[in-house]
Amino acid sequence: MKRCLIFAYFKNNRYSFNALLGALEKTFLSELDKFQFYFPRKKEELLKLIRELSLNSEVFVFFSFFTPQYWEIREFLKEIKEIKSKKRIWLLAGGPHATGLPKQTLEMGFDYVFVGEGEKVIVEFLKSLLRGEYYPEIKGLSYFKEGEYIHHGKAEPVCLSGYPPFSLKFSLIGPIEITRGCPFACKYCQTPRIFGAKPRHRSLEEILHYAEALLKRGLRDLRFITPNAFSYGSTDGKTLNLSALETLLKELSRLTRAYGGRIFFGSFPSEVRPEHVTEETIELVKRYCANDNLVIGAQTGSERMLEYLRRGHTVDAVRRAVKLTIKAGLKAKVDFIFGLPEETEEDIKATVSFMEELARASAIIHAHTFMPLPQTPFMKKKAGKISKEVFDFIKKFLPKGQVFGDWERQMLLSERISEELLLPQFMQKGHEKKIFAI
Ligand code: SF4
Repeated sequence: MKRCLIFAYFKNNRYSFNALLGALEKTFLSELDKFQFYFPRKKEELLKLIRELSLNSEVFVFFSFFTPQYWEIREFLKEIKEIKSKKRIWLLAGGPHATGLPKQTLEMGFDYVFVGEGEKVIVEFLKSLLRGEYYPEIKGLSYFKEGEYIHHGKAEPVCLSGYPPFSLKFSLIGPIEITRGCPFACKYCQTPRIFGAKPRHRSLEEILHYAEALLKRGLRDLRFITPNAFSYGSTDGKTLNLSALETLLKELSRLTRAYGGRIFFGSFPSEVRPEHVTEETIELVKRYCANDNLVIGAQTGSERMLEYLRRGHTVDAVRRAVKLTIKAGLKAKVDFIFGLPEETEEDIKATVSFMEELARASAIIHAHTFMPLPQTPFMKKKAGKISKEVFDFIKKFLPKGQVFGDWERQMLLSERISEELLLPQFMQKGHEKKIFAI
């Protein structure tokens, strides 16, 4: 019987599997028929598949998840472990949480952890299974072998253009990742710690190739994954490369005109840095794109906090970006994080007054609560708490539709992440304590 590979293709984690299956399709196509692939979208569907398939075949179940999903995944693992299988069920994890805390992720009950970017790791791992090797030495793979923790380090960053953004063969399609890595080192953020500080852009030809493939399949809305949409083509990710950006949007719009379709750029699921919102970049969005909004990262209204967070821009840059966006007839959705570490009364007052100013100018506030995350310089910080002043602001602007977000749930999760997951890590010897240097 062929080995069965089941990918937990759930809503919040699909993009990582799109990229992994794209990598398999591109570099392992001739061997794929030696495995059976499954992509359940619901928990019940996944459990049913495991129950049925494990009667006759070895089953490998792949998860990718974020730290706030830790408890949900742990409960899920318990249910899988209760399944009475005839053949072995192997559990694999990747994604931001597993990369940040590989040993702790194995201790949750996983058999393997993919650490870092998974494109090369999954191919090497499947090759080793075909050779009958269950504990291969692959960079980016961790496991326990006879009770000993084996960690082969973090996978090397891949060249984005060397791998597809998704899998056409398996019809696992979605937004096109155009840039990976971020040169800014905001202390709360996992992105530069997982993907590195050097931006790696997908080539124009590759983006157009996959955009055309989507349009040919009848998909009409093109969306993109990038930590900072306007930085496309920039060597350092900090200075704009307007000509690369314009060529990208112009060529994409040539395709959308030919096939029928729309471009969404600088809006969900990506965003833009405030200092990159200029008359020129907005002009490009207005000329070529269909989005009615830009998502702008601000995070705080305190100059002191911006510096402490290493955001690399000023409050005034946000003010200017919002003004230009609204003047151009677009909605400005501005990200803020509440309950940041080391925030003083003064910082909170500055943030609330800045949000009031932006809201009066008709900006929309996207509200988040700070959550300490593995591998970030803030991972040892206490959970974020929302102050009364911020709550008052939310109460005032929520009914007007000028505040949205998951700040309440994040506040509860933040507490659990800090108290139950991260702080206990520092009490134990031998666990990952490393905070990446950037
Ligand atoms: S928050 Fe944005 S700009 Fe800052 S490090 Fe993360 S991805 Fe980069």
